[in-house]
Amino acid sequence: MKRRDLIKAAGLAAAAGAAAATAPAHAAKKIRWKMVTTWPKNFPGLGTGANHLAELINEMSAGRIDVKVYGAKELVGALEIFDAVSQGTAEMGHGASYYWKGKSRAAQFFAAVPFGLTAQEMNGWLYHGGGMELWEETYAPFGLVPGAAGNTGVQMGGWFNKEINSVADLEGLKMRMPGLGGEVLRRAGGTPVLLPGGEIFPALQSGAIDATEWVGPYNDMAFGLHKAAKYYYYPGWHEPGTTLECFVNKEALEALPKDLQMIVRSAIKIANQDMLADFTAKNNKALEQLVTQHGVELRKFPDEVLQKLRMLSDAVVREEADKDPMTKKVYESFVQFRDQATKWHAVSEQAYLNGRNLG
Ligand code: CA
Repeated sequence: MKRRDLIKAAGLAAAAGAAAATAPAHAAKKIRWKMVTTWPKNFPGLGTGANHLAELINEMSAGRIDVKVYGAKELVGALEIFDAVSQGTAEMGHGASYYWKGKSRAAQFFAAVPFGLTAQEMNGWLYHGGGMELWEETYAPFGLVPGAAGNTGVQMGGWFNKEINSVADLEGLKMRMPGLGGEVLRRAGGTPVLLPGGEIFPALQSGAIDATEWVGPYNDMAFGLHKAAKYYYYPGWHEPGTTLECFVNKEALEALPKDLQMIVRSAIKIANQDMLADFTAKNNKALEQLVTQHGVELRKFPDEVLQKLRMLSDAVVREEADKDPMTKKVYESFVQFRDQATKWHAVSEQAYLNGRNLG
């Protein structure tokens, strides 16, 4: 060894010694967080998205924070996670904000609204269009800090055993469809049915329901819905870019050193982007398999049906907004952004995709 290497080596050894001396104190400070979710453990896309977020935080913080993920019912029930994180039973929650309509009606706008924003538009509104500030204001009374933590992209319209050729074909149709979309279906003459994911397939197969929506090709194929219905309709007018969320207990977040707070916030943002990429890649592949290997018949809702659903949706969403001032405030920001985005996307994304399809 040359002399300067020896000096360098000695210096490194001394530094290592100093680090070792302080290591036990750091080790004692390892922060253990719980993430409760509304998804079954490891559920494709959504549960795996929550796992990915926890891994990101663990790795980006070099293990200074250790986030452990709990599937629905492992620590608290799927619909109890909002209260659990609000009360500090867990530090983080992973779900979708339309589940918390009972806490705040405005929350629905941060997940999915019939004929609302696409994934790209949701991210634009949230990050650079004032949406995130409104979401923070909505969750502040509960001591929660929200973040967009994933997106399914445009969902599918659903599975049917008869063709939908006119609005009249929706009359009397018993269809699994939650939330605002369900109310729209009811006004169109159908009967919305609420069923958790795991009960959809048997209900459709036995004829207890006539039709169902779920997510898109990737998740729907995993549930085997193509074995219980013949026609697969598009587009998912009721969930055009469903945003998943990760909310954090505000006290727990603010108790972290500044760099760890930034790591948590950044990891959530990465997870948001990655889930959309995951769905985009897997939906492409699954759609092809459904059509070429399973003989699924793809159908587009007729324009007349979409027009009627759009009209009913506008009324349902406006009525919802009129019920309280916070929802009204969020609604106005959302609708203004959608109107602008519609004009811009008519000459950008939409015009481009139409052009590409000409070939
Ligand atoms: Ca859905």
